[in-house]
Amino acid sequence: MKIKVDRIPEEGMSVEIEKDVTWLKEHQDTTVLNGVRFLSPLASKVFLQRRGRDVLVRGNLAVNIRATCVRCLDEFPSRLSAKFDLLCVPRGATQITEEDDEPPRGGRSHDTELRSDDPGVETYSGGQLDLDPILDEHLNLAVPMRFLCREDCSGLCPRCGASLNTGACPCRTGVRNTAAV
Ligand SMILES: [Zn+2]
Ligand SMILES: [Zn+2]
Repeated sequence: MKIKVDRIPEEGMSVEIEKDVTWLKEHQDTTVLNGVRFLSPLASKVFLQRRGRDVLVRGNLAVNIRATCVRCLDEFPSRLSAKFDLLCVPRGATQITEEDDEPPRGGRSHDTELRSDDPGVETYSGGQLDLDPILDEHLNLAVPMRFLCREDCSGLCPRCGASLNTGACPCRTGVRNTAAV
């Protein structure tokens, strides 16, 4: 979703975005989201506020998923959510070719020391802010290192492969070996 920066009022504006599962599939980083199924569209609320030509972008996103537990290999419903707080700056005035972007007035030039490799800073060009890459990036950042169906998932029995979450497997019957003891 692209927003024209000069349409953003200084007092700010809210944008609600929904991205369907097709979009999500195209944008998921399969190395981190492998095996994840999306159960809902991605819902995002973003608040945009303009300071001159810089734009403050604050927002959140959430999507319901089904993931596979790394310990017991069960599928379970989960939710990915993230918050972000960014400053978007124009990518150098010379690259802005579209429309009548007025040059900086009265020597108030726009060379900031901000760089795009600063995690809280993004750049935009062409007078337009594209929110899609921001959603894309923060969706992938929201993915945990590993999916666990629950913190204390007992996993599978190394001998018979049965899930230990549902009770004792045949080879452990009679051996009370729970974490609580
Ligand atoms: Zn599990
Ligand atoms: Zn067993």
